[in-house]
Amino acid sequence: MPLGFGKTLRQSRSAAADRRAAQDVGAPERAVVLSEVEELGIGMFWATDADGNLSFLSQRALDDLGAGAEALIGTPITRVFCDVDEEDGAPNQRSLAFKLKARSRLDEQIVALTDARGSTRWWRLNGRPLLDPSGSFRGYRGSAVDISAQYAYETQVARQSQVDELTGLANRRKLNERLSAMLAAFRISRRSCALMMIDLDRFKQVNDTMGHPAGDDLLKQVAQRLQSIVKDAGEVGRLGGDEFQVLLPDMDDRGTLGELGNRIVQSLSQPYQVNGRRAIIGTSVGIAIAPYDGLEADELTRAADMALYSAKETRGGTFCFFTSELRDAASKTALLGDRLRDAVDKGELKLAYQPLVDPVTNEVKCFEALLRWHDEEEGDISPAHFIPIAENDDLIIRIGEMALKQACIDALAWPETIRVAVNVSAKQFVRPGFRKAVASALQASDLPPGRLELEITESVFVGDLETVDAIFRDLKKLGVRLALDDFGTGYSSLGYLKHGHFDKIKIDQSFVRGCTENGDINPAIIAAIVALAKALGMETVAEGVEAMDELALVKERGADLVQGYIFSRPITQEQVLAQFADGSGVFRPSGPPRHRAERITIFRKIGLIHEDHYYDVILRNLSKTGARINGLAGVPVGTEVVLDLGHGQLVVSKVVNATENSQGLKFETALISDGSGGFMTRHRISPYSLAEAGIPLAALGPGAFPLAAWRDANKNKSVPRFVQLELNSPHLNT
Ligand code: C2E
Ligand code: MG
Ligand code: MG
Repeated sequence: MPLGFGKTLRQSRSAAADRRAAQDVGAPERAVVLSEVEELGIGMFWATDADGNLSFLSQRALDDLGAGAEALIGTPITRVFCDVDEEDGAPNQRSLAFKLKARSRLDEQIVALTDARGSTRWWRLNGRPLLDPSGSFRGYRGSAVDISAQYAYETQVARQSQVDELTGLANRRKLNERLSAMLAAFRISRRSCALMMIDLDRFKQVNDTMGHPAGDDLLKQVAQRLQSIVKDAGEVGRLGGDEFQVLLPDMDDRGTLGELGNRIVQSLSQPYQVNGRRAIIGTSVGIAIAPYDGLEADELTRAADMALYSAKETRGGTFCFFTSELRDAASKTALLGDRLRDAVDKGELKLAYQPLVDPVTNEVKCFEALLRWHDEEEGDISPAHFIPIAENDDLIIRIGEMALKQACIDALAWPETIRVAVNVSAKQFVRPGFRKAVASALQASDLPPGRLELEITESVFVGDLETVDAIFRDLKKLGVRLALDDFGTGYSSLGYLKHGHFDKIKIDQSFVRGCTENGDINPAIIAAIVALAKALGMETVAEGVEAMDELALVKERGADLVQGYIFSRPITQEQVLAQFADGSGVFRPSGPPRHRAERITIFRKIGLIHEDHYYDVILRNLSKTGARINGLAGVPVGTEVVLDLGHGQLVVSKVVNATENSQGLKFETALISDGSGGFMTRHRISPYSLAEAGIPLAALGPGAFPLAAWRDANKNKSVPRFVQLELNSPHLNT
């Protein structure tokens, strides 16, 4: 076999190799072997002189490199071989020259060289410096292997490796490339692009309690849910850890984005099945939009990050748009954190008490303890603001225990039938020492456990639900009552109500405020929650009742208790005691007869559709239920029109009052808040409503509503009924 092998070699040997073998008179056997190695393409040899010029290159190599390669002999080796960048295979010139200068060994050094046809070849070099017996440097001797085919493939794979292995989503690298490329292109064509940063709240808890494989499994499920929500509207990727990103080209409608943000939060907050167990995590989303919040990739990324930070800070389980004020919020937060710590040390945090009143008898049944902090510089700071700051570290534990202790002591001075409710942060709740803190507050004050109520938000239902269940059972054993606070805002899974942990549900203010406005579905939601609570044997509280009509509504829908400015703002312990000293635990409702809708003044060009005409109008102000517009003359009261607020947000409206060139409109369906002070339509308009406005009945396509096309198609079909005014004309300001 070795013989046959050698024979074949010899037969296939080129004339050039024969020539070279003949020249190597000193070591004929060796030369033959080496030639054969070269011939087989297993390796090639090279050498330099002491000055770093190429002094020898295997014939095979010269043959491979093509005509004129002989001229390379005598050329500085650094001109022959070019370093390549490990990352992407691009040539660069640094480390080879450095190593040669330092006379270091070359180990598996990959270099590029250009052949006679101008194409690049890649060689893997090994080499060592050669010293003569006196120790002086004589040049390099080394070998080389042509790895072109393999290397080209590998770099291509590296370049294409833009996939996150765990989830199969785009990875950070790909996302960065895509974002930069998109923004550069979109800037020219003046298109917008939204960036969503998504971070899982308390994912670490799942990882810690259920193990990393479970965490990985959960991340995969998160990826699937994200993709099924975003679909082809954008690109979903994973940045690493529990951070995801969505890139949404041509998206600048904050209403749509808010809805998407909301859908993401809602969907990712639904329970997961992991290893046969149920787990829940929360989600925060930060949204930034180019070109509004940033033009370049890193600017936009920073903006989205800040929005994410702010969403996490607000309470988690929510989305937040970037606003320029967020820029300095982070540093302000750090400062405030220091001052908060100071205030806690000095005992400057106080408790205020807000009554929960039976709306039938007006008798108080319970007081909710609410923290109050007056800072010298900032004035009164809301707990909604400083509690999340405290939650960043262990401060929340100290604050929480202080509130518990003080509330129990204060409540003991009240009549025996009156309970006290204390808010408990999710961070505090899941800490191992929590049960003990509750027990010791009860013990220290002697308050009967049944008079203490703990208000917990849905955000405690994260991580491994069995662990959460165990905490609940422990607390119930103590005999305290549990209330589910802000119901309907966060994770909104009715599932955990069935476990029977809660004695009380507090319907969040957002369902109560403005619930009497026409077209609002909140009364139905309130009624449904009350019915559900009754069925499960729980008490209900309507939070945030401010106006008489709201009070009447929640009373009529069956809420057991009412908490809100209508009965009283939070008051001091002294005021509470004074109230009882009067001999009455009665609070009389007083407040405005009706809820006043907030109005936002804006000057925005929008569209108005009437019959088959599309007019441009200026939106002067907007509330949830109506708007005032300028820009049309001669529109009679009672006219039905459709407002186009943009991006498929069409609002069926009726003119309820009119001057010569300004009209007040009432919306058929109320708008909803966009989470950052503005309004948006809850849904995009249905094709049926469009049909009523004269648009042929068809399903809405993806992307923006094709009004422009419809408008062009209908141009000049009929005579417009109204006079379109010049939108920048001076009399529009009246
Ligand atoms: P919460 O537990 O939902 O408390 C109700 C909040 O609504 C209180 O705000 C209360 O002053 C406010 N409120 C009550 N009625 C009305 C009304 O008719 N209209 C309006 N606009 N607001 C009303 P506050 O005191 O600013 O507290 C905000 C949040 O801070 C609380 O929401 C609670 O989540 C948290 N918090 C307060 N004290 C503590 C505490 O001791 N520990 C913890 N962990 N969180 C606390
Ligand atoms: Mg509360
Ligand atoms: Mg609440």
